[in-house]
Amino acid sequence: MPGDVRSVASSSVGVARASLLAVIARLASFPALWRSNGIRFAPVWQMGLFHVLAVAGVVLLGISWTAVLISVALYAIRMFFIVTGYHRYFSHRSFRLNRFWQLVWALVAMTSTQKGVLWWASHHRRHHRYADTDRDLHSPARRGFWWAHVGWVLSDQFDHTVHEEVRDLAKFPELVWLNRHPLTPPLVYALAVAGLGLAWDGWLGAANFLLWGFVVSTVLLWHGSFSINSFAHIWGRRPQEREDTSGNSLTLALLTLGEGWHNDHHADPASVRQGKHWWRIDLAYLGLRALSLVRVVRLPARRIPATA
Ligand SMILES: [Zn+2]
Ligand SMILES: [Zn+2]
Repeated sequence: MPGDVRSVASSSVGVARASLLAVIARLASFPALWRSNGIRFAPVWQMGLFHVLAVAGVVLLGISWTAVLISVALYAIRMFFIVTGYHRYFSHRSFRLNRFWQLVWALVAMTSTQKGVLWWASHHRRHHRYADTDRDLHSPARRGFWWAHVGWVLSDQFDHTVHEEVRDLAKFPELVWLNRHPLTPPLVYALAVAGLGLAWDGWLGAANFLLWGFVVSTVLLWHGSFSINSFAHIWGRRPQEREDTSGNSLTLALLTLGEGWHNDHHADPASVRQGKHWWRIDLAYLGLRALSLVRVVRLPARRIPATA
């Protein structure tokens, strides 16, 4: 019936118009919402630009198996240093490194563009101290998913290193210097990756290596690391009974080389191994075990208690 068709069409237009107005109203509310949470424009556009560059670069340069392999390899290597460096070594001191290797771990972890080594450790120690309370800086239960995932990183409330949390690390001037110059390691890394690409295949090789080895893998590393603050406090089983919302997730454990066993980790933060059972696969721990055989790292003697 023509009348029915007209009324269905006009109601569809009405729904579309209402949805569009709702989206516009939501977007219009962002500046005030961001201002009230201390979120600044500069880090938003910088992080946004990386995402745009990643997508535009892939569209312009295309995908190849070599490119994917470079990206996955450099994601995995740098994730290993974030997990074992920023997290298990600098934040929790769960194994030992001599001063030379400590510097190497800090340098490679900092190529991930996740601010300074003391900054990272100080805020992470705070997270454990106040997990899922009002003083937790990134609790999705308290402030929602997006705040926990990325909002707090973009906010000026947490710009500064909490020095009283990292007095043990501040004894090392080289770490303090790196913490003051957080963009130096990523810039050196980007130049090195581009140089490798140049040697491999001229300017096109440099562009491809920079795209896949730096831009794409850095964006993926951000979301891999951020997912532990957001998804790992929403998803997963909770075999250890705790006040906080930390969960165990195999998916997150695979994406982050072992950090997905977050419920186990909150129950025993000082443990170098995060999965409490051998079948909770923890690739970062296996990597550390291998490095302990050649004495690059020293693991603690105590065995991980199987508590769940
Ligand atoms: Zn947590
Ligand atoms: Zn931790």
